[in-house]
Amino acid sequence: MSILIDRQRCIGCGKCSDICPGSLIKTAPDKKAVIIYPRDCWGCTACLKECPTGAISFYLGADIGGQGSCMHIEKNGCITRWIIQQPDKEPITIETDSRTANKY
Ligand code: SF4
Repeated sequence: MSILIDRQRCIGCGKCSDICPGSLIKTAPDKKAVIIYPRDCWGCTACLKECPTGAISFYLGADIGGQGSCMHIEKNGCITRWIIQQPDKEPITIETDSRTANKY
């Protein structure tokens, strides 16, 4: 499992680095985020949820049936959209609302 950081979308806020429980994300000299040991990423997705610009994608590997799919997050207030992009298919979107996520 690992992530991909889009350097064009990264604004260098450092939130992903602060939240990564494995301390795997560092800041490059140009202030952009970089993952230094991608193979050590265990896929907690904390950085995806924290990134304000949706710059981080998460590979869904063959080991979990991802077949080359990639997931990223788009947030709008309380709404979080988990978007899974599959090769040669329409994206799948799962929407959650933080106001009701812990309702049960
Ligand atoms: Fe860049 Fe997103 Fe990390 Fe902020 S949280 S440093 S925008 S990748």
